[in-house]
Amino acid sequence: MTPFSAGEVLARCDVLATITAATDGIERSYLTPEHARANWTVGEWMDEAGLTAWQDAAGNQRGSLKGPSPEAPVLILGSHLDTVPGAGRYDGILGTLMAIAVVGRLRARGAALPFGIEVIGFADEEGTRFGRTLLGSCAVAGTWQESWWSLRDPHGVTLRDAFVAFGLDPERVGDAALDPSRVVGYLEAHIEQGPLLQDAGRALGVVEGIMGARRFELEMIGEAGHAGGMPYGRRRDALLGASEVVGAVEELARGAGAIGTVGRLRAFPGAMNVIPGRVEFSLDLRAETDQLRDQVWDEIEETALKAAAARNLAFEVSELHAARATAVAPTLASAVEAGIRATGDPAPMRLMSKAGHDAMAIADLCDYAMLFIRCKDGISHHRDEDVRADDVELALDAFEAAVLAVADAHG
Ligand SMILES: [Zn+2]
Repeated sequence: MTPFSAGEVLARCDVLATITAATDGIERSYLTPEHARANWTVGEWMDEAGLTAWQDAAGNQRGSLKGPSPEAPVLILGSHLDTVPGAGRYDGILGTLMAIAVVGRLRARGAALPFGIEVIGFADEEGTRFGRTLLGSCAVAGTWQESWWSLRDPHGVTLRDAFVAFGLDPERVGDAALDPSRVVGYLEAHIEQGPLLQDAGRALGVVEGIMGARRFELEMIGEAGHAGGMPYGRRRDALLGASEVVGAVEELARGAGAIGTVGRLRAFPGAMNVIPGRVEFSLDLRAETDQLRDQVWDEIEETALKAAAARNLAFEVSELHAARATAVAPTLASAVEAGIRATGDPAPMRLMSKAGHDAMAIADLCDYAMLFIRCKDGISHHRDEDVRADDVELALDAFEAAVLAVADAHG
């Protein structure tokens, strides 16, 4: 197979797909034996492409290509190597392997770059094992939090103990961080995880920014009672109150141009002949700006409080997660756009990322931009995730051209 071609990149995605803890889709989470095997395999490919490979103090797989001088800054290229349970083979993986192939191509053409390159396969973007996303990229950005050491996986193993079992030293996690004054920026290629490129008949797109998200655990509390004996006038049905909120989430978010999803709902005690006395439900809310996202949340909360008051229920909120919206850097996004134009698309499509990415954490370290690649029917976080080989070939050309455009702009 031709070195650094789409065919080779896709064959390597197939190899990584065999490194999995499950047989129904791929499962590779942080600090597991599969994580170690994937790092080792990717490290071999990094070495082959001319990078110097190593595993950093947080378990990220990294490879560096020297710049023109020891003081030269670095351009970071990468994505993540971990997966959700039941994953496909391209989310994160494709972008990491493309970054390695692009370095191989740049070396093959003898490109003289004004900076070094560091390719990073981030160890934990999905947050599957410890419930906190972006651990790998936060370590590189230098924003690792001490409080995370006590996070536990579903088996009760703390992050600290998992670190030690993996052969890492918790005291040295700071060594994974890059010095912001020595970084040019970060470029990430990733499948779109949505259908917009496919619907527009485009192979590639330029990301304009990553939506801000907030996640809540919500609760309606009423009183359980006999489904036959208790008259309507005296019921405190928590599920009816929660249902009003579920409907309002779609109406309010959609009306404002945001996205709201209730992905989980549980009624208690959960019997056919008992009025639901308590309902727990989740809310995932995303929007292009934090202001819009927060405004929609305020409206949802107001609606929920009114629905609760009308039905004599209590409404409780706990916020689990908040990530601010992050904008791409115009100079780097222009380089990505120039890269796509170099493949023959005169006016590349621009789109927002509705999913989170390592770039969100790396935005605390340096400027970033992203290249999106069409994926079949927008399917992602699913074993049917798929990409076209000709799209990946174009994406490699565009990503390589984008690095050269950054080099031009850097002078
Ligand atoms: Zn991803």
